[in-house]
Amino acid sequence: MQSKPVIQMLPDQVINKIAAGEVVERPASVMKELFENSLDAGATQIDVEVIRGGRQLISITDNGCGMNRDQALLSIERHATSKIRSEADIENIHTMGFRGEALAAISSVSRFTLITRPEENLAGTEIQIAGGKFLSCEDIGCPVGTRMEIRNLFFNVPARRKFLRAEQTELSHIRQLFLVMALAHPDIGMSLKVDERMVYSLPMSGNMEDRISELYNHSFFEQLLEISYSDSDYRITGYAGLPQTGRKDRQDQYIFVNGRPASAPVVFHALNEAYHAVVSKGRYPAVFLFIEMEPSLVDVNVHPTKKEVRFRKPNQLRDAIAEALSKALSFQNEGFGIQNTG
Ligand code: ADP
Ligand code: MG
Repeated sequence: MQSKPVIQMLPDQVINKIAAGEVVERPASVMKELFENSLDAGATQIDVEVIRGGRQLISITDNGCGMNRDQALLSIERHATSKIRSEADIENIHTMGFRGEALAAISSVSRFTLITRPEENLAGTEIQIAGGKFLSCEDIGCPVGTRMEIRNLFFNVPARRKFLRAEQTELSHIRQLFLVMALAHPDIGMSLKVDERMVYSLPMSGNMEDRISELYNHSFFEQLLEISYSDSDYRITGYAGLPQTGRKDRQDQYIFVNGRPASAPVVFHALNEAYHAVVSKGRYPAVFLFIEMEPSLVDVNVHPTKKEVRFRKPNQLRDAIAEALSKALSFQNEGFGIQNTG
């Protein structure tokens, strides 16, 4: 006789590893989670270091609020968060994270080191975990803030490791994410070191002109046209590249909705529409678009790892963006002949 299936609760370590599949796709997604934690911790300086496309090491150091020993030990437990407390809080979220899953997930699929100290303590704490197994927790001297080191991502999940792409590909995801974060947070000092080489070192500046000039160069910035538009629902600001410039892909088109990086087909359609009359097909001028609206007009939480957002009034938004863009473009040359096709 065949044995009956026996139902059992899975051990935490197994649960975390399964959950990691949701949160952690590649080195860049680890970086995103850690970066958002640093933002939530009130950091004004965030330094990122990666080695071998993040496969060997991803480390993030911040000067945020840090954690004491008890809090640090809790932070790596699943569903442990300082960001919400009750069911009601879920409807009113002001932080980047709130699920309390990232650290538990990441530390279950890597060799993970957490070094942290809050201002009020003289000693910091260092916690080491490997593949979800707790190794050690010790006092350590360190600056105020938090440093996380993630080594050998997926070392204990061969199936996932196989799906990581070439170092260069992983690195380009990391660089792209860094650019997006840098544009979303000009008020934060940031650096990116790749294989021991400093690639970006951005002072906190608080203004977009400085940040774009630092990321590209000042003559690039001077070629951009300023976008400034508002109506009863939307405020749209930013910069748009001249029609005759631009790449063959959308890599330099950045969109932020209420300060968060966002991607939405309707926005890209609107950009195409606005540039349509003046840009040759298949060219995408650089665009840095910051759209502000009532939170009720947008759903940003479609999926934890996806940056796609949904808008309540997509058609109105498309018209507003087309209008904002054509205004910026016609400023440069009154006779451009751009029609608002909205
Ligand atoms: P979430 O961000 O959803 O709360 P995480 O697993 O990413 O879940 O983090 C768990 C908790 O650990 C956070 O709620 C926060 O209190 C703490 N934490 C994580 N990263 C940092 C950091 N860089 N500085 C201070 N506290 C942190
Ligand atoms: Mg988090």
